[in-house]
Amino acid sequence: MEDGKEKRSRASAIKQLLVLPALAAAVAAGALPAEAADNKKQFKYQDKPGPHGRECSGCRFFRKPHGCSVVTGTISPKGWCIAWAKR
Ligand code: SF4
Repeated sequence: MEDGKEKRSRASAIKQLLVLPALAAAVAAGALPAEAADNKKQFKYQDKPGPHGRECSGCRFFRKPHGCSVVTGTISPKGWCIAWAKR
């Protein structure tokens, strides 16, 4: 029987797998990072924290003070998108 932690871990892994094709498509299009048109919609970026209080400031792609190596343009340290990955 699975415990809650294992279920969450599996769900997190599945979400990561869903994000990878979007990242691959962006790379293939030569769209990373700064040359891309605004891709906030593609990555479902929002200016508020995501599930479980996840924020850009805790993401490995966050670049101080308001940048990201995946999502283009200015982002909030308190924001979130589907490419979030633990730092
Ligand atoms: S959550 Fe998304 S927008 Fe925020 S730093 Fe990570 S990849 Fe960039």
